[in-house]
Amino acid sequence: MNFEFTPEQTQFADTVRRFARAHLAAGALERAHDPRFPFDVARLMAEQGLMGIALSERDGGQGGSLMDAVIAIEQVAAVCPRSADVVQFGNFGPIRTFAEYGTPAQKARWLGELLAGRMVMSLGMTEPDAGSALTDLKTSARADGSSYIVNGGKVFSTFSPDAQIFLIYVRFAPGLSGIGSVIVERGTPGFSIGAPAVFMSGEEWCELHFNDCRVPVENVLLGPGGFKKQMAGFNVERLGNTARSLACGRYAFNAARDYAATREQFGRPLCEFQGLQWKFADMAIKLDGAQLLLYRAAANADRGLPSAYETAVAKAACNQTGFEVASEAVQIMGALGYSRETLVEYCMRRTRGWMIAGGSIEILKNRIAEHVFDRRFDQRKRPPAAAE
Ligand SMILES: Cc1cc2nc3c(=O)[nH]c(=O)nc-3n(C[C@H](O)[C@H](O)[C@H](O)COP(=O)(O)OP(=O)(O)OC[C@H]3O[C@@H](n4cnc5c(N)ncnc54)[C@H](O)[C@@H]3O)c2cc1C
Repeated sequence: MNFEFTPEQTQFADTVRRFARAHLAAGALERAHDPRFPFDVARLMAEQGLMGIALSERDGGQGGSLMDAVIAIEQVAAVCPRSADVVQFGNFGPIRTFAEYGTPAQKARWLGELLAGRMVMSLGMTEPDAGSALTDLKTSARADGSSYIVNGGKVFSTFSPDAQIFLIYVRFAPGLSGIGSVIVERGTPGFSIGAPAVFMSGEEWCELHFNDCRVPVENVLLGPGGFKKQMAGFNVERLGNTARSLACGRYAFNAARDYAATREQFGRPLCEFQGLQWKFADMAIKLDGAQLLLYRAAANADRGLPSAYETAVAKAACNQTGFEVASEAVQIMGALGYSRETLVEYCMRRTRGWMIAGGSIEILKNRIAEHVFDRRFDQRKRPPAAAE
C-alpha cells in the first residue's frame, strides 16, 4: 500500500495548480456569485487539457485516469471553488455516460463541442414525484415511426438554464427494465424550459416540460433496460460531487487557518486559543479520513467501474466533512466568514447541496447498510398481507 501520489500525479497536480493560480485566482469571488455556467473557464480548461481527462483519446479525451480528474478538481477548487464545477462537467457529469454509450453519430455531433467548452449538457432524472425513488419516474417515451413522443417533466437539473442538450431519463415501458434515456435538444418543438429558480448555493435550475415532444430514434442514448448501465455511470458522477465537497471543505479550512494565524483578539492570534486549536484538529482528522475514502474509491474505479459501496462510503463521508468543516470555518472567521466578501460562506452553502444531490446522505447510508448486512432492504411500502 502506498499513500503517496506517483511522480506523474505529483507533476500533474503541480501543472494544474500553476494553471489555476495564473488563470482562475482573479475573479474567483465574482464567479462564485454568478449563477450562469462559466463558458470562458470551460474554454480555457479545454485548451489546458482538463476536459475529458479520463475519456479515451479516440473520443477526444486525454486518456488519463479518474484519479487524475479528482486531482484536477482538488487543485482547481483550492484556487477557485466555482471553477471546479467545470472540471466536474467535463469529466464526471452526464458527459461520461454519453461518451460511454453514445453512438458514433451522437458523439460526432455533440461530444467535440462539449469537450471544447462551447456547449453544456444537463441531466434530467428527478421529477416532482420521483426524487430519491427515482425509478418511480413517469416521463414517457412512446414509439411512433422513426421517433419517440416524450411526455412529462423534470425538476432541479443542474446547468439547465445554459444547456444546449439534455440527457433525459424516460420510461419506454413499465418497470425497472422499461427505463432508458434520450437526448433532447433545446428548441425541439414540444420541449419548454421554465423560468430559472435558485438553489441555496446561488445556482439556477429550470423546470423542463415535454408535451408530445418528438425525439428522433437516433437520439436514444440507452434504450429499455439501460437503467443499470446508467446508474453504474452515475457512480462516476458521484465521485465528482464527492471530490468537490471535500475540496470546498478544504478551501474553507485553509482560509480559516490563515485567518486564525494572523487575526488577533485579546492581544493574541486566534490560533493560540486552545478552543480553536481543537476545532482545527477535529477538522484535520475529518478531512484526512474522508480524503483516504475518496482516493480509495477513485483509485479502485480506475481498475473497473467504481464500486457502489466504496462510492457511497466516500460520498457520505466527504459530503458530511465538507459541510461540517466549511461551517466550522465560518464560525472561526466570525462575521467576516459569514460575509460574501470571502468564499467561506459560499463553500458552506455549496457543500450543503451535495448532501442532497446525487444520492442523499440517507440514501447512501441505506446502500451502506445493505453492504453491512449483506442483504437488500426494500424501501417500498409492502402490500397489505393477503387476507387469511
Ligand atoms: C444542488 C442540487 C443539484 C441537483 N442536480 C440535479 C440534476 O442535475 N439532475 C437531476 O435530475 N436532479 C438533480 N437534483 C435533484 C436531486 O437528485 C434530488 O434532490 C434527490 O434525488 C432527492 O430527491 P428530493 O429532493 O425529491 O427529496 P426526497 O426524495 O423527497 O427526499 C426528502 C428527504 O427524505 C430522505 N429520504 C427519502 N427516501 C428515504 C429513504 N428510503 N430512507 C431514508 N431517507 C429517505 C431524503 O434523503 C431527503 O432527506 C439536484 C439537487 C440538488 C440539491
